[in-house]
Amino acid sequence: MSAPVSANSTAKLDRCSLPDAGGHFGPYGGVFVPETLMTALDELGAAYATAKADPAFQAELRFHLKEFAGRPTELYLAERLTAHCGGAKIYLKREDLLHTGAHKINNALGQALLARRMEKKRVIAETGAGQHGVATAAVCAKFGFECVIYMGAVDMERQALNVFRMRLMGAEVRGVEAGQQTLKEAINEAMRDWVTNVRGTHYILGSALGAHPYPMMVRDFHRVIGMEAKVQILAREGRLPDEIVACVGGGSNAMGIFFEFLEEPGVQLIGVEAGGRGLARGDHAARFEGGKLGVLQGCKTYILQNPDGQIELTHSVSAGLDYAAIGPEHALYRDRGRIQYAYACDDEVLEAFQLCSRLEGIIPALESTHALVHGLKRARTLPKDKVIVVNLSGRGDKDVNQVAKILGVKL
Ligand SMILES: *Cc1c(COP(=O)(O)O)cnc(C)c1O
Repeated sequence: MSAPVSANSTAKLDRCSLPDAGGHFGPYGGVFVPETLMTALDELGAAYATAKADPAFQAELRFHLKEFAGRPTELYLAERLTAHCGGAKIYLKREDLLHTGAHKINNALGQALLARRMEKKRVIAETGAGQHGVATAAVCAKFGFECVIYMGAVDMERQALNVFRMRLMGAEVRGVEAGQQTLKEAINEAMRDWVTNVRGTHYILGSALGAHPYPMMVRDFHRVIGMEAKVQILAREGRLPDEIVACVGGGSNAMGIFFEFLEEPGVQLIGVEAGGRGLARGDHAARFEGGKLGVLQGCKTYILQNPDGQIELTHSVSAGLDYAAIGPEHALYRDRGRIQYAYACDDEVLEAFQLCSRLEGIIPALESTHALVHGLKRARTLPKDKVIVVNLSGRGDKDVNQVAKILGVKL
């Protein structure tokens, strides 16, 4: 595990005071966008503040999370994985059971309801692997928004099935052919669209990233994961877990499950980044292992960059963790020593992907499997009376083609 840059564990922790009015999580976060977007972000921040405080908005969101997305999700005791490791009990928070297959729908629903309140008729979003695009297309179909999804041309080819899903649900998918033709370029293109069409368009950003208010708002829409998990573990075990493990791409599923436990010092929180092929430059997406402070796509945070400050290429077997920047709130809690960070490599992930499938009858998303790898390692070293919760952020159906190819299986 990596050491914090400047441990400051004596600072009083008040999770609800973050971010400040300017969107700062300590030295991280903020608003780094062209002038033309400032008005839109201010308008969004104000609309969100009103909605957040409105019981009718919260009730409506709860209703759709239950009826459309399938909440609450189970907290499932993985008995055979637990027996296999021979140590701590392993629980899985089953976000994989949600409609469209991952936690992303929590945020997509929240932002769609907000867009409706703001009387926007058109929604845009970026997507990498396609999971956020699919969740956004689904909520746009449900609420009758015109929907445009930006996706790198390379990703469109790799994730052809998700492109078809989005189109089935009425979304227009626009390929982006700039640069590496992946997620980073898709975000640039979505921001460009937003600048041009800001009056009638809402941009549903898909992770706890970007300019304020996005990191805060996306985190808030995922807090339900941790709130449910807390009630569920108290009912099952009569106490809080010893450790909670979640994978970190931009950081939304992790902040979602961690937030409710930040002020519970007995609960260790661990975020797991993508170690890819190992920690050589360009081979991974572990921003806390070799990343430096910088600004990317709206916020200040840890970023993988070369010595000239150019954004570094990244690699991970899981597209959802394959991004050069990490959400700003994570950077602050790492400094403070409140959240620890580890990484899992592609080969360990492929092994755990098969193990979980075989022992539990659950095929996890490759992203979520990063958390599982670390959870299994911890379970082996801890005694049987300890309890670990792993956030299973999504299901692996989207990954089976890719895994078959890697394993040399012809379908
Ligand atoms: C998108 C995605 C992630 C990574 O995003 P976060 O914002 O870090 O949660 C993780 N797991 C799954 C299943 C995803 O689809």
